[in-house]
Amino acid sequence: MENSTSFYQFVGFQPPQAPDTGGIEELDIDPAQYALFSDFDGTIVEIASRPDAIEYTGDDATLFAKAMKAFGGAVAIVSGRNLDDVAHYVGDYKGVISGGHGTELRIEGEVERHKLPDPEHLEHIKAAVAEFAVIDPRVILEEKTYGIVLHFRQNPEMEFKARKFAECLLEGRDDFELQPAKMALEIKPKNISKAAAIEKIMLAPAFFGRTPIYVGDDATDETAFAYVNEQDGISIKIGDGPTAARYRTESPASFKKWLSGQMTKRRD
Ligand SMILES: [Mg+2]
Repeated sequence: MENSTSFYQFVGFQPPQAPDTGGIEELDIDPAQYALFSDFDGTIVEIASRPDAIEYTGDDATLFAKAMKAFGGAVAIVSGRNLDDVAHYVGDYKGVISGGHGTELRIEGEVERHKLPDPEHLEHIKAAVAEFAVIDPRVILEEKTYGIVLHFRQNPEMEFKARKFAECLLEGRDDFELQPAKMALEIKPKNISKAAAIEKIMLAPAFFGRTPIYVGDDATDETAFAYVNEQDGISIKIGDGPTAARYRTESPASFKKWLSGQMTKRRD
């Protein structure tokens, strides 16, 4: 794992630590009782050197198709990526997708998008960040509908400079905020979170009355862990680092193996 913990602490981000984080091998669930919410990068697909270099495999597609049946359609991918970007990777998957940290939602085939209070201001932010990346090309930009991400996975020494720049850009604003992520910094609208997206999705007929499971790997998943814990659901953190999640597993592969085992067991 990369050395991301010290960075979160550095920027003042310290998620509450769950007293006991158990391994998922202790977890035995009946999918018919649960709703499955899963982050995408670092949870379903391995994190790649660039955001466009991830691999969603045929096995991943098969796993999601099985999950849609086992969880009675109560399956949602909750990503920081744009909704269209996730939809492109997952192809035939017909379940719920939340994109842009909850700014976009595809549910029952309908797409809902959040309305920004000041879209013009976002264009200025994007333009400034684009200039920054021209002046120092050690950062890679990922433009999103509702924000922009500065990636420095290939040049970790850029962390400090990128953070200073982004902080100056957002100083005094109450509409956008800086979201630390793995070897990246994201500028995103305030008051938008994965937790809020999950709360809304839970009202949909396929999800209503079920207990939520949330699986994620990053600082952006902590609001979702906290929400799911409040609902007496199951929160699973992929990888190491401080977290509010109650369970932990080492990698996307170990999570998918556990999930597959839970579904196979029920069919026998
Ligand atoms: Mg992730």
